[in-house]
Amino acid sequence: MSRDAVQGLKVVDAFDLDDELRAILKPGDMVRDDAGRRHRLPRYFYEVPDHDTAMETQLTPHFRLNEFIVADLKEAQRMHGYPKYVPCAVRVLAMFLEQFRAAAGASVHIAVNGGYRSPSHKMGVSASTHMWGTAADIYRIGSTILKSKESIEKYNEIAEDVSDDVHVLPYGHVTDKTADDHVHLDLGYITLIPREISEDRMEQPQENKPRFAFEERRKRERRAAEGVVDGDQ
Ligand SMILES: [Zn+2]
Repeated sequence: MSRDAVQGLKVVDAFDLDDELRAILKPGDMVRDDAGRRHRLPRYFYEVPDHDTAMETQLTPHFRLNEFIVADLKEAQRMHGYPKYVPCAVRVLAMFLEQFRAAAGASVHIAVNGGYRSPSHKMGVSASTHMWGTAADIYRIGSTILKSKESIEKYNEIAEDVSDDVHVLPYGHVTDKTADDHVHLDLGYITLIPREISEDRMEQPQENKPRFAFEERRKRERRAAEGVVDGDQ
């Protein structure tokens, strides 16, 4: 069996990335939200080696990793190339989006740069949940372009009904300092530590012995690789 067939995504400790990436991702830094509350930025990231991996990695049946890491021009230059980095909590976001998609009854399209945005993104003046990989900006659901107050409020309500953990911003919000013509939903400041990583208190670069782990393949992916067809696919 090839290496790729048995290993999932690589999880890295961002303290051990190079100087430039550490300066962009700011692992462990405290940032304030608009209400002045402080939040600690994520430390563990998926390292996405190339575009093919981003396209092939299904976080859930309808959401690929690629959709969460498309950068716009306000993002740091380094974040436009591969490897790309995204906080591990993006998996949880995808799960909620999958439920939102089912409730909405149509496909959910995440905007360019509407998933993860690094703390160095030019829009990131205060702690935005996009920096945790737990927020999505959605401009289109099915064939509906979300630009009217009515359509945004309708889908905001559907998103809120998915779970009390889902937070949406009202029509006309300026928190993201963007146009007010989209659905923003987020899960708050979740950080996720995959079971495969070994945590420690050494929040300084360990450049000679970088800390990382490979996620084990999820059961669903293993079953697919073994040719067992899932009933619901
Ligand atoms: Zn947003």
